[in-house]
Amino acid sequence: MTSDFIQLGYIVAAVLFILGLKGLGKPRTAVRGNALGAAGMLVAVVVTLTDNRILSFWQLGVGLVVGGCIGVLLAVKVQMTGMPELVALFNGFGGLASVLVVGSSFLEVQSADVNVAISDTFTIAAAATALIGAVTFSGSLVAWAKLRESVGSFGFAGIKVVNAALLFGGIVLGALMLGAPTSTGLLVGVIGCGLMLGVTGVFPIGGADMPVVIALLNSLSGLAASATGFALGNSLLIVAGSLVGASGLILTQIMCVAMNRSLPNVLFSDAPVAGGGADADEVYAGKVTSTSADEVALLLDTAERVAIVPGYGMAVAQAQHAVRDLTRALEENGTEVVFGIHPVAGRMPGHMNVLLAEAEIDYEKLIEMDAINPTFAQTDMSIVIGANDVVNPAAREDPDSPIAGMPILDVDKSQTVVVIKRSLSPGFAGIPNALFAADNSLMLFGDGKQAVADIAAALKDV
Ligand code: NDP
Repeated sequence: MTSDFIQLGYIVAAVLFILGLKGLGKPRTAVRGNALGAAGMLVAVVVTLTDNRILSFWQLGVGLVVGGCIGVLLAVKVQMTGMPELVALFNGFGGLASVLVVGSSFLEVQSADVNVAISDTFTIAAAATALIGAVTFSGSLVAWAKLRESVGSFGFAGIKVVNAALLFGGIVLGALMLGAPTSTGLLVGVIGCGLMLGVTGVFPIGGADMPVVIALLNSLSGLAASATGFALGNSLLIVAGSLVGASGLILTQIMCVAMNRSLPNVLFSDAPVAGGGADADEVYAGKVTSTSADEVALLLDTAERVAIVPGYGMAVAQAQHAVRDLTRALEENGTEVVFGIHPVAGRMPGHMNVLLAEAEIDYEKLIEMDAINPTFAQTDMSIVIGANDVVNPAAREDPDSPIAGMPILDVDKSQTVVVIKRSLSPGFAGIPNALFAADNSLMLFGDGKQAVADIAAALKDV
């Protein structure tokens, strides 16, 4: 393939990536945006492999078929609740891929003719890739385990000093590579610092800060790819990596603003505050009122305005279609129905929007936190479906809570709140929720999908 065709292929891929990103900005065009991005990646892979004659055409074909099958299998098999974990793994493997690619280039350079000068650009880019890629890899694996709730938050006093030392150590070892660009020991040292920093950096983070870290790791995977592009002199990797890095940073910033956190505060806070705040027995003892689907239907029959607040439990229960049916039944009854969407409800940014769009719930009904909060006082009933942390008043009222300062949906200000969940178990932050014991709250215990379907059925008989 001539150089002109290769550059043309790279430009086509870059344009497809940019159009894809643009499409992903709006729910209506997101599917097309995703397809354009995937097409861009296909062009990029084919052009790069053909250009470098890394593989023969038939090997390329087999690789595409095998990779495509794995992709299809993952997409079909993975439950909606598993998506955030899958995204965390993808981020991690992106970081690992960057480290492996730059490692192999390093070995190539190391075994080359001693008289061939190694440019400083290569060395700086290789060191940056090694550090950022390694942090992304180990940090994402810890995030994956935390999202699965296989591990909790963990830390110790002074962990921020350890983190700062690891970051500083990685940068110093990387800088030393400028004087000894073929030193395997230095490169391994940089990677080692990065791997440890990923673990000690992500482990203590929990509660309201986890979404920020997920967005940041996503950004870092792009930055690692971009640095790899500089090491290899590959313009497409630089463009694609920068797009991921920049969009991830914007998302990180949006998450920080939504969570009322600053990035340094998230990254350099001390040991986890899990366990801070009130005790469950203290909060719930003798104060929780449970209800039934029939009673909720009776209340709904006279309600003029209802706000539905979905959370992670709606994803677990796959209740979105039942929620759509209930919404239609209420609207036929003349009730206004809106949805309150918290920016970190669920386990990934936009989680609730994706689920509700899947159930074809009109996008105009989804109201963001800042817009819906002032309206709760005029809302007859809020129905909280599998949401917990994002409606926990402790964020407003308890400065010792792990979610202190996180803005929440003020459902407690509505006339009546019905909370649908299976038990009084805590949410991701692991803390009790005084909303469940509030005077205007009714608990409807059960699986989200079943409970919503029961209310809709009971509504017909009212
Ligand atoms: P939470 O994790 O606070 O609570 C979810 C609730 O759903 C649980 O209390 C659980 O209670 C209930 N639940 C689980 N399964 C079902 C079911 N089948 N039917 C009904 N209820 C069910 O969710 P939120 O959405 O309120 O908050 C999100 C949390 O996740 C925040 O702390 C956020 O910081 C964190 N996070 C968010 C990320 C993001 O990007 N969005 C990323 C990482 C973390 P029970 O077991 O009693 O049913």
